Amino acid sequence: MPPESRQTVVVDGLGLANRLRADLARAVERHVARGRRAPRLAVVLVGDDPASASYIKGKRRACDRIGMDSLERDLPAHASQEEVVAAVQALNADPEVDGILVQLPLPKGMDAFAVTSAIDPAKDVDGLHPENAGRLLLGESGLTACTPLGVMKILEHHGVPLEGADAVVIGRSNIVGKPVSLLLQRAHATVTMCHSRSRNLRARCREADVLVAAVGVPRLVKADWVKPGAAVIDVGVSVVDGALTGDVDTEAVQGIASLVTPHRRGVGPMTITMLLHNTLAAYESRTGACPD
Ligand code: NAD
Repeated sequence: MPPESRQTVVVDGLGLANRLRADLARAVERHVARGRRAPRLAVVLVGDDPASASYIKGKRRACDRIGMDSLERDLPAHASQEEVVAAVQALNADPEVDGILVQLPLPKGMDAFAVTSAIDPAKDVDGLHPENAGRLLLGESGLTACTPLGVMKILEHHGVPLEGADAVVIGRSNIVGKPVSLLLQRAHATVTMCHSRSRNLRARCREADVLVAAVGVPRLVKADWVKPGAAVIDVGVSVVDGALTGDVDTEAVQGIASLVTPHRRGVGPMTITMLLHNTLAAYESRTGACPD
């Protein structure tokens, strides 16, 4: 083995997700056994994008498997923004809906901020409402975006030290880059947030004890971007020649990183698990049903 070569842990995101989902299933079962209704997630799909439809199918199947209810509101691609907001408001008003998720991206021309801001913050399981985003920024409790929560669970599960660690996040989106940066900072890491206009990206990444890539550029992060011993989390999902790939050249960083998430069965299953977690949390908070 070369001097810097090390054993790299390839994260089993699916295994961890399944264990957490079993806990969530038990929690749902306990509520139902006490005569309460099951938590319910509502998903809103605008248009007929096959990838979005498939994501929604996966989310609803995941609900079903842990005994949660789900429902879907489908609107045509030509629906007006007012119609989409009205659908969200109807779900806000439904006392038996605990979580609301609007599948993104919305059709061109529709203002995603206006639509997600229409969601009742108490039901905002994607953590995109300005109230929840603001609470995260201010260090208050609230519903937080699912992928960032999943990333933190992976780091926590593997005992990756965060206090005082140098963390670099590539990507500054509202759904991944910004919230994961704030969560890392909350865990006492020193966080650098990079994006498409950042200079010296490779050198900055190379300084990171924890590197999170949430970009959508296939294999952007190469072996020489990774500090020996770093924990590398690959959030990106791209399709190259019909095959799923991530932002990290996963094979190349083996033997350098201490830990890496694979682009299949890595962060993805944890995202859905955190959606279930948020829906249960919203249910318990809204109905006053105590977890036990
Ligand atoms: P986005 O397009 O909203 O944001 C991408 C970010 O990457 C931007 O902040 C941009 O500045 C930055 N960026 C673009 N090109 C860059 C470059 N060459 N160098 C450095 N930074 C660059 O995307 P998003 O919604 O944050 O998602 C990011 C990726 O994560 C996508 O591939 C998406 O499919 C994936 N994703 C995966 C999951 C999951 O559960 N696995 C969940 C959400 C998003």
